[in-house]
Amino acid sequence: MKQLHGFAPWPVQLGAEFVHGGENNCVVEIFEKLKWPIKTLEWPDRYYFESDGTDNETAETAENPLRALHGLVDANTAEQHPDIEETHRLLAELPDTPWVLAGDEDKTETEKDSDQVVIDALEDRATAEVDCTALEWLTNRVKANQKIINLAESVYANDFGCSLSTMGMRETSIEQNCWRHGEEYILLSDGRTLGDFVEALGKGVDVRVNHVVERVVWEESDAGSDGKPGGVRVTVRDASSDASDAKNQVTSIRASAVIVATPISAQKIKHWSPHMNTSITFEPNLSHEKVTAIEKIQMSDAVKILLSFDEKFWPKDVWNIVCCDSYFPELWMLEYGTEETNKTIENVFKNSKPIGKHVVTIFACGEKAKEIAKASAESPSKKQEIIEKALDQLDGMFGGESSTTGETKPSRSRFVDSLIYPWSEVSSVGGAYTHPSVFAAGARLELQKGEYNDTLFFAGEAVNVECNPCMQGAISTGLNAARLAATNQSMLTNKPLPTNWGTEENFVESFRTR
Ligand SMILES: Cc1cc2nc3c(=O)[nH]c(=O)nc-3n(C[C@H](O)[C@H](O)[C@H](O)COP(=O)(O)OP(=O)(O)OC[C@H]3O[C@@H](n4cnc5c(N)ncnc54)[C@H](O)[C@@H]3O)c2cc1C
Repeated sequence: MKQLHGFAPWPVQLGAEFVHGGENNCVVEIFEKLKWPIKTLEWPDRYYFESDGTDNETAETAENPLRALHGLVDANTAEQHPDIEETHRLLAELPDTPWVLAGDEDKTETEKDSDQVVIDALEDRATAEVDCTALEWLTNRVKANQKIINLAESVYANDFGCSLSTMGMRETSIEQNCWRHGEEYILLSDGRTLGDFVEALGKGVDVRVNHVVERVVWEESDAGSDGKPGGVRVTVRDASSDASDAKNQVTSIRASAVIVATPISAQKIKHWSPHMNTSITFEPNLSHEKVTAIEKIQMSDAVKILLSFDEKFWPKDVWNIVCCDSYFPELWMLEYGTEETNKTIENVFKNSKPIGKHVVTIFACGEKAKEIAKASAESPSKKQEIIEKALDQLDGMFGGESSTTGETKPSRSRFVDSLIYPWSEVSSVGGAYTHPSVFAAGARLELQKGEYNDTLFFAGEAVNVECNPCMQGAISTGLNAARLAATNQSMLTNKPLPTNWGTEENFVESFRTR
């Protein structure tokens, strides 16, 4: 989670912004315990079709008016279109994947699907090579048309934090089977943002920000003759820029058990982003199984482009748009804060620069995000080109006769400020979040196993076996790891853990008293 202050009259979310799903979601349950009001939004809200109808669709229009979708279309209407219906069906049912699950052979036409391999379970590491990318599956096996592929790219791959060409089908299937949170998007209201949530999570905990773990060393030799497993020493560098005398000071902390919850990029031997500089050295080397699992799970890039305006030029009821054939795949326009909190923030920043009160956030992941990040780093003029492209896309959506302003290009006269934020340039993350990765079946299960004789555990969204790269997914892995570590210690010390300790229920309940 990262917030930007001074761009809008509220802290703008540069990373996670929505709580995904209102069911079985400990984040929502914590909000309830804290008595924090929320706002629920339906997603997707609108679809945008940029194509001007000069392709084959025009011919089909007379027979079936739904075939020609053009411009901004509400989700209910768009989802009746056969191609859109088919995209959602394909990604929900995942037909004709390269595998068939043991026991399900009879359910499929095995003769027709003679090139499907029978596997015992989706998470079965032994058959991890029975996999393909979503692009290969859509193109070669399902033979989907271009509109379906475009839509799957914008709606599914972008949401998963990758591109169809890197989205692994086995892990996509696992996520699809396991997702149990619902589809709505939830936001905090009453002037609160996820920054308040992070603060509430950290209350009473010794949190040291800007401290970089450099080494994790298993001090096995400290193990006693009583069979105790030794401890783990963590070497930490103080990288805070506001304490220059303390900067780069190295300290170490020893513990009987350690949980590493960094992004997977910090655990990889080599990560693709040249900006990543918080890699951890593990001594002795992690087991071969763990290293292989860490290398198999992939993280791509995510970019948020923020555009602020001094006046709205989009309809009041539009909040999110999935763009099916445009350069930028998704964008939303949200307003936070109360009149009172926004006024306070505006006053704080009013002398530094103008603040647009209406913000559009563009969200791009995968290869598109890498392309944007590369161009924006290349030169100021390339950066400007991206902003111009974004404004053009907005004008395409909200300009013209039917627009609320009646102007052809309403964006530029109202434009105040912009920011391009590529996550690959964040030195302690080096990318987005992990995405369904090809040949990675079973890797996340491996990451859940203890290391160094069960004194070292891993947590974080990459460890979630349900391939859930959301906040609640990350939290559940932390609780899991804490329970494993504490259970081990309790056995060694003969001090039983309180019943229910470390469960999601117990964790949520702890917020009642905060
Ligand atoms: C642009 C973007 C949009 C997103 N939108 C949403 C959303 O709307 N909803 C949602 O649920 N999720 C969203 N996510 C995903 C969500 O942010 C992650 O799932 C979640 O943050 C994962 O939590 P984590 O604790 O595993 O990892 P992180 O939140 O990445 O935390 C890991 C921490 O480890 C730190 N670190 C790295 N190296 C070291 C080191 N060597 N020593 C010490 N610390 C280190 C990092 O700085 C980081 O603070 C989004 C992510 C991005 C990037």
